[in-house]
Amino acid sequence: MDFRNFIRPNILNLKPYSSARHEFTGVGEVFLDANENPYNTLVNRYPDPLQAKVKEALSKIKGIPPDQIFLGNGSDESIDLIIRIFCEPGADEIIVLPPTYGMYEVSADIANVKVNKVPLNDFFQPEVKKILAHANEKTKVLFICSPNNPTGALINKKDIIELLESFNGIVVIDEAYIDFAQEVSCADLISKYPQLILLQTLSKAWGLAGVRLGMAIAAPEMIHFFNKVKAPYNISILTQDFVLDKLKNPTDMESQVKEIIHERERLLRELPQLNEVVHVYPTNANFILVKMKDANKTYFELVKHGVVVRNRSKDQGCENCLRITVGTKSENETLLKILSN
Ligand SMILES: *Cc1c(COP(=O)(O)O)cnc(C)c1O
Repeated sequence: MDFRNFIRPNILNLKPYSSARHEFTGVGEVFLDANENPYNTLVNRYPDPLQAKVKEALSKIKGIPPDQIFLGNGSDESIDLIIRIFCEPGADEIIVLPPTYGMYEVSADIANVKVNKVPLNDFFQPEVKKILAHANEKTKVLFICSPNNPTGALINKKDIIELLESFNGIVVIDEAYIDFAQEVSCADLISKYPQLILLQTLSKAWGLAGVRLGMAIAAPEMIHFFNKVKAPYNISILTQDFVLDKLKNPTDMESQVKEIIHERERLLRELPQLNEVVHVYPTNANFILVKMKDANKTYFELVKHGVVVRNRSKDQGCENCLRITVGTKSENETLLKILSN
């Protein structure tokens, strides 16, 4: 498959902005090329537009070549770029699989791109035949979230591969929660499927939601188009330096993930025993979807005690469901105590 067939013609032909830091990358001593203030404040210079050092560090941790990584201001930037690279406003369409993450639809709505919804089945798995039946020549992108938010379920790899084999367009797999999952990333599929884009983020397992750094992972030929369309200096020096420092210590992240998974398993054992709980869905993420007798009632009961969870009752297939993030041991105990009263 040639993924370029799905790129908007104006993006294929786009002559990108060429920044000062882009045109000269050698070793200079006197920089009079970017109209910066010469007095050193640590941040008086523009940042590396392609974030080479951060990508090098991520590459080592993830075992993915640096030229297969794009960095954005959170995953949200990558989602927005995907819509803008592939979807002609007012003409093209995307497919999403509800209940799922809301930003795919919002980004499409902002771009005036039609959103086709093909709900997951009762086990929160994709209906491959229905998805293919909903696709037409205007359908450019299929968004899959695995593990899915808000259900917590991993999407069957067999279905993902079937979709990669048969869906005629770009396939995005949002792996924001992959570090909490039993399965490994789909990164091994990139060499076989040039139309595949993975999304990962430092916002969840890495504990850096406030920093805003997300990754798109794809074949270098695909990453090329992300770099063409992005704002020239999209990741600040402050973010690049801070993240580089954090990436030196992946063990911190690994031990936190271990602890979160340990607490998740405890909640999975204890939540089903509570009177108000109807069903606890299996999860591969750092949150649990829980069906209550009356989600609104429980939601406000928790809020009364200062505990905030996410009410997902209005999501398709999530009637009376709360989405509960796994907290610290003591936070989870607070939650269980309120729920058992
Ligand atoms: C939290 C989350 C993200 C992360 O978004 P960032 O912009 O990187 O913080 C991406 N996708 C899903 C499904 C999420 O739940």
